[in-house]
Amino acid sequence: MAEGQDEVLSSQGAPGTGGPVLARPITRREAIKYGLLGLAGLSSLGTAVCYLAGCAGSEPAATGISGDAPTGEVWDLWQRRGWAREAAHYRKLGRNVQCNVCPNTCILAPEDRGRCRNKVNKDGTLYTLCYGNPCSVHVDPIEKKPLFHFLPGTGVLSIATSGCGFRCLNCQNWEISQRKPEETKDPTGAPVKLDPAVPLLSRADMARLSMFPEDAVNVAEHFKCPSIAYTYSEPTAYYEYMIDTARLAHRRGIRNVWVTCGYITTEALLDLCPHLDAANVDLKSFSDDIYAKLNSGRLQPILDTLKTLKEQGVWFEVTNLVVPTYTDKPDMIRRMCDWLVENIGPDHPLHFSRFHPAHKLTHLPPTPVNVLTDARTIAREAGLHHVYIGNVRGIADAETTFCPHCGKAVIERDIYLVRNVHLDGPRCRFCGTPIAGVWTADAPPGPLSMAGRPDTPERVLLS
Ligand code: SF4
Repeated sequence: MAEGQDEVLSSQGAPGTGGPVLARPITRREAIKYGLLGLAGLSSLGTAVCYLAGCAGSEPAATGISGDAPTGEVWDLWQRRGWAREAAHYRKLGRNVQCNVCPNTCILAPEDRGRCRNKVNKDGTLYTLCYGNPCSVHVDPIEKKPLFHFLPGTGVLSIATSGCGFRCLNCQNWEISQRKPEETKDPTGAPVKLDPAVPLLSRADMARLSMFPEDAVNVAEHFKCPSIAYTYSEPTAYYEYMIDTARLAHRRGIRNVWVTCGYITTEALLDLCPHLDAANVDLKSFSDDIYAKLNSGRLQPILDTLKTLKEQGVWFEVTNLVVPTYTDKPDMIRRMCDWLVENIGPDHPLHFSRFHPAHKLTHLPPTPVNVLTDARTIAREAGLHHVYIGNVRGIADAETTFCPHCGKAVIERDIYLVRNVHLDGPRCRFCGTPIAGVWTADAPPGPLSMAGRPDTPERVLLS
């Protein structure tokens, strides 16, 4: 997920049909303390629903977790609820299985659990445990993902289950990303379905909530969200739930947004791309060494993902969280920006995001503001047209979109609130230059480059 901004409880946008409502960003401590109260206020507007499931548990670090699959009554209930489904993209190796959804490519013996904690080998078949059982559901402003060049000012139904294939030391959503489905959901008792007319659920009800793909699309329609985001934790870890929901959403004219660390195999991504309309990909650093230390991952698969999204015509924006002592070196930022310009082109936005102490890096200070503005200068000098700074107040034009030709401000924002738009369709109102992005929902959903889906006046994919 885009750890810079799309924190599950970091804001209270309530966009619905009328554009985002700006609220003071709240701290995690405040959110946990007051979250349900705040949601009651939002729900009274009929515009938002949110819950973070309670959780507690361990944090194994090895690839695959031996003998950790649910058994007995828990496994029976999980199957009866429909929360356990045969997984996609895996192969059988005798009674073992190998998952090929993300580059961890876990090999699991019977009763083992994958590194993301969401998949288990039962009798030689790989199952996902998080089908239709989100632990977080919320309506956000699309700007919070962050996506600044995709349907600005609209609301997005945002869903997440537990799990992630990474172990980021700075994870802002570790309460769900570093948990098993069984630690965020409860299959006992009567099933709960979300009634959009009464969107506030108790913690116990939320733990029993089932929201299968059709339910999710119904909820998005109810709240008049033109898109659904798979976000907060790592949606690649709930791939099967995501792709089935995305398929159905497209059939009903709703777009799909993937907010991701980008750690996915090309095979799984190519299946997903036709159902995507936009993505925000974390490029957490430009160093394999830092990826290993900070995220327990590797750089190259992320670069491959960016190239594949580009080739497949999926609109995407990139987030780089600037973590003091880890990812704040000007030379590394310069190399990252040079790579983006050369391989992706200058028009895909780059969001630098301010680090705030979290999870295992509470001893580090927030990113100094001058480090963020220096990073923006480096990116602009490298040739990137749209560079933003997020998670911080008080930096001039941190969220403003400028026309790359005449230099005038074409979209002005304040945190997640779109204040002024100076576009005619996709073009700068002052000089007529097209601005890259997806600006209206008039065209049918799908990647921009799909056959029969050329750029339209509303949707522009440059470079
Ligand atoms: S999604 Fe990744 S981490 Fe999870 S089981 Fe598959 S390969 Fe392992």
